[in-house]
Amino acid sequence: MKLSVVEMGDRMVPRMMTAAAGQLIHKWVESQGVKVHLGARAEAISAAGGAMKVKLSNGQTLDCDLLISAAGVRPNIAFLEGSGIKVADGILVDKRMQTSVTGIFAAGDVTEAEGFHSGRPELNAIQPNAVDQARIAALNMLGGDTLLQGSLAINVLDTLGLVSSSFGQWQGVPKSEGGSSVELVDDAHYRYLSLQFAGDVLVGATSIGWTDHVGALRGLIQGRVHLGSWKAALLADPTQFMAAYLAAAQKVA
Ligand SMILES: Cc1cc2nc3c(=O)[nH]c(=O)nc-3n(C[C@H](O)[C@H](O)[C@H](O)COP(=O)(O)OP(=O)(O)OC[C@H]3O[C@@H](n4cnc5c(N)ncnc54)[C@H](O)[C@@H]3O)c2cc1C
Repeated sequence: MKLSVVEMGDRMVPRMMTAAAGQLIHKWVESQGVKVHLGARAEAISAAGGAMKVKLSNGQTLDCDLLISAAGVRPNIAFLEGSGIKVADGILVDKRMQTSVTGIFAAGDVTEAEGFHSGRPELNAIQPNAVDQARIAALNMLGGDTLLQGSLAINVLDTLGLVSSSFGQWQGVPKSEGGSSVELVDDAHYRYLSLQFAGDVLVGATSIGWTDHVGALRGLIQGRVHLGSWKAALLADPTQFMAAYLAAAQKVA
């Protein structure tokens, strides 16, 4: 099967991973025979006799037998109109997952819960966040007082066998806010690592070609672990993140 990907952004996975990571994934899929059209929107689809034609904004037309539209998700909240429940792009909730109407709770893709780093309402439509939020909503509906620690951005992809991931503030934070970073690019072996820090805390990460221990990146970020001297060690060699996790996050008191 000949596969073409049409992406309106200027690179692949623009809302999930760094530019260098997007370029490496692009190189990988092309090496596997996939044609990638960047900076192009699908503008019209026409069908004649079973075959389809997709007109792109760059003037090209693609012939295809099968078309998959994967252009994102949006909460379906129209049914709440007039209910008094406050919404923005999704249902707004407090840290207890309660909506603006006492006794009514919301969780999962449909909610805009507090972001882990931003502290502002964010849509983070992934399964681990839905599970966390549902558990907290359920505990509080039963009279508990459990607070959401904030929804974290998590992306894990398997692109034709190349595994990539990103967590938290993978875009980094400005230097003026204590931001610093390190990036390791190994084009030849399709390996990549980017670590983003605020002070001595890891706040975001992107990886390609790492299948072992990437959960440690999430652990360091979600634990808001102060790395101390391990930060300098990671700036010198970011591949040491598992050793940093064991030393800094799993410290025996
Ligand atoms: C193609 C795809 C791939 C994904 N891949 C991943 C992944 O790799 N990793 C990951 O973590 N997450 C992934 N997700 C996201 C994950 O599926 C969602 O985050 C998760 O299912 C959210 O759970 P939820 O219970 O909030 O919503 P849903 O699972 O969407 O459940 C909501 C349910 O409510 C029903 N419903 C809607 N409106 C009403 C109504 N008015 N009354 C009654 N019922 C209603 C719906 O029919 C649905 O069954 C993916 C999603 C999609 C679409």
